[in-house]
Amino acid sequence: MKPAPFTYHRPSTLAEALDLLADLAPDAKLLAGGQSLGPMLNMRLASPAHLVDINDLSEFSRIRLAGDWLEVGALARHHELADSELLQNHCPLLAQAAQTIGHYAIRQRGTLGGSLANADPVAQLALVAVTLDARLKLVRRGAEREVSARDFLRSAMTTSLAPQELLLSVRFPRSTGREASALRIFNRRHGDYAIVAAAVTMTLQDGQVSQLRLGVSGVAPVPLRLDEVSQRFEHQRPDARWREAVALACAQAVEPEEDERIPAVYRRELTQTLVARALGRVLEKLEQAANAGATPT
Ligand SMILES: Cc1cc2nc3c(=O)[nH]c(=O)nc-3n(C[C@H](O)[C@H](O)[C@H](O)COP(=O)(O)OP(=O)(O)OC[C@H]3O[C@@H](n4cnc5c(N)ncnc54)[C@H](O)[C@@H]3O)c2cc1C
Repeated sequence: MKPAPFTYHRPSTLAEALDLLADLAPDAKLLAGGQSLGPMLNMRLASPAHLVDINDLSEFSRIRLAGDWLEVGALARHHELADSELLQNHCPLLAQAAQTIGHYAIRQRGTLGGSLANADPVAQLALVAVTLDARLKLVRRGAEREVSARDFLRSAMTTSLAPQELLLSVRFPRSTGREASALRIFNRRHGDYAIVAAAVTMTLQDGQVSQLRLGVSGVAPVPLRLDEVSQRFEHQRPDARWREAVALACAQAVEPEEDERIPAVYRRELTQTLVARALGRVLEKLEQAANAGATPT
């Protein structure tokens, strides 16, 4: 199928893009990598009268250190996140997540902003944003605001973005240099969206867990951060029994909906398995780093 007719705009500055949105919303849609919007237009699931292509705003694809944060422009493409040395050193979970998205062609075009604005419940970048409590900068003509990833992602394919707003950049907390992280996803075929995914970061102090973050997607309309479980299991020694207990607690904490293709019990079991594997990988990394006197990743 072909898209319904639309007027194409290609602003060369942010101010121009925001003017277009202010004047044309809600009949305008932003076009970033086009990897989700393109198919939606072709299938006529979306038929905006105006398309505002923001690909010339390339200065908003920068990745930079900003104090305790890493600021990533919304137009950073998945492959740029995956290959960024800054991210590998200071926010390795984000780089790792980007590497696992779809196929090569999708990673070449898809953007951080497009992925978050699209709000697919199992998008890896949304899972990382929620797990790390990332902050999103939203701008419109004459105003800007910052929201947490959890406040931004309202429900499946639904965000708190207003029609005149553009997601400009995202701040992720910089790794302390003592924490390790891991992401585990389960999908049926390489390149497919995950059925369930789990993300973990952990810091140890004197052999005990001093900080634990647990994120899971595929079990609710938005990725979840399981803070109650994390808090229950901090300040303990992370042996094999601890790991199994955390994974079980995560599975018990989620309430996946029944669906015809994938029973809730299956998603719950995947949660347990993937959390256990992610924790296992994190502990391995922490041990290797301690033995080598190096920084964990
Ligand atoms: C075959 C296939 C497999 C895929 N597999 C995965 C996968 O495994 N995991 C995964 O996470 N994703 C996957 N994707 C999705 C991919 O990551 C997309 O790139 C992403 O979801 C959308 O990013 P985009 O830059 O292409 O955005 P677009 O398609 O251009 O836009 C998507 C939506 O976001 C809005 N938007 C875009 N940029 C902004 C902005 N800066 N501010 C406000 N709104 C904005 C658009 O208006 C549109 O509504 C897959 C896609 C395909 C086609």
